[in-house]
Amino acid sequence: MISRTKSEALFAEALQHIPGGVNSPVRAFRGVGGQPFFVNAAKGSRVTTVDGDELIDYVGTWGPAILGHAHPKIINAVKAAADHGTSFGIPNPFEVTMAKLIKQLVPSVAKVRMCNSGTEACMSAIRLARGFTRRDKIIKFDGCYHGHADCLLVKAGSGALTFGNPDSAGVPADTAKHTLVLPYNDVDALKACFAANPGEIAAVIIEPVPGNAGLYLPRPGYLEFLRQITAEQGTVLIFDEVMTGFRLAPGGAQERFGIRPDLSTFGKIIGGGLPVGAFGGRGDIMDCLAPLGPVYQAGTLSGNPLAMAAGIAALEELTNAECGMRNAESKAANAYTRLEHLGATLEAGLRDAAKSAGIPVTFNRCGSMFCGYFTSEPVWNLADAMKADRERFKKYFHGMLAEGVYLAPSQFEAGFLSTAHSEADIEQTVRAAAKVMGTL
Ligand SMILES: *Cc1c(COP(=O)(O)O)cnc(C)c1O
Repeated sequence: MISRTKSEALFAEALQHIPGGVNSPVRAFRGVGGQPFFVNAAKGSRVTTVDGDELIDYVGTWGPAILGHAHPKIINAVKAAADHGTSFGIPNPFEVTMAKLIKQLVPSVAKVRMCNSGTEACMSAIRLARGFTRRDKIIKFDGCYHGHADCLLVKAGSGALTFGNPDSAGVPADTAKHTLVLPYNDVDALKACFAANPGEIAAVIIEPVPGNAGLYLPRPGYLEFLRQITAEQGTVLIFDEVMTGFRLAPGGAQERFGIRPDLSTFGKIIGGGLPVGAFGGRGDIMDCLAPLGPVYQAGTLSGNPLAMAAGIAALEELTNAECGMRNAESKAANAYTRLEHLGATLEAGLRDAAKSAGIPVTFNRCGSMFCGYFTSEPVWNLADAMKADRERFKKYFHGMLAEGVYLAPSQFEAGFLSTAHSEADIEQTVRAAAKVMGTL
């Protein structure tokens, strides 16, 4: 059991001053019941609660901590940058380094602009695609989450899904009507939608590997078909790689699946734990942005030197790319090979634990991202994911927490491994799972 005395006092206080006591809804634990714990330190694969419990962490600050928490290279880079000032509002050299680094790792990106969150990146990419094509309609997919901009908060995943309001109040119907929502992994639905809206779709935005309704993978040929039909229709294909970018491969899901989108959005890992987003892609599209073109987009803190320093350190450590040169493929292979190995070990252990306990679990994994759904049926889209037994997940979540393992507090979130997770961490997790599954 973890202790809660200080966390409970802090949460009681937080509830009086912050809506729901949290600054992002999923943190409130509503998806699993009970109260959140507070954390005041994190290192490597562990977070430490204010009550002094150390937990093995599979949330990794929702994706950014791919090198583990408080990686010394990142901490030192931020400290060094802070000595020279926290923000200039004038171009700084880090921005150029960061842009070159992203381009080297993600060949579909000819130009890239930095912003402050994944939400901003997706919102801006949509505006850019609409400005470029002079069309209004966009396609998104059921259960995919692209941040909380109005036009994208339609049938959205993540917290919106966990709390049962994937269509948020406050989004005008006039805005939402331009967003067409299709089931993921369904080629016929895509064909029908393009046929019904000829020459009218500005963009398709997709999580190439959706990680905001748990985790499921593209069926073979699906992303290829999407690439083909968008090219034929003059529709901008946007890969939302805020979660998958620099995680599923140095070049993200697009490298792993061999697809070249027109635009990509990034966040999470490229900030090294500081607030960052980015969007980039084809030069002809990106040049429609102000000050070159008519599509407006801006940010007081965009390209912030601390955030750039943290992100550059993270990407360099992850890939050993320096100043835009991906010069040590072997080291890049090492980080991602290690993540793959850890992922496979965890997967095998959890599958065994479920099997021994006789609990039906569908385990989906892509590299260092995973989700175990409490269902015996395969999960390829949101409708499949919704068949999972959420009551069973709640018990599993709290059981694992009591054993010192912190999973995302919702059946509809992916788990994340970092290079800081050890074999011993995985063994401890699997032992805990075997014990907890036996009680479900
Ligand atoms: C997290 C996430 C976002 C939103 O990023 P924020 O930084 O939370 O605004 C957008 N798209 C995907 C796929 C995400 O996982």
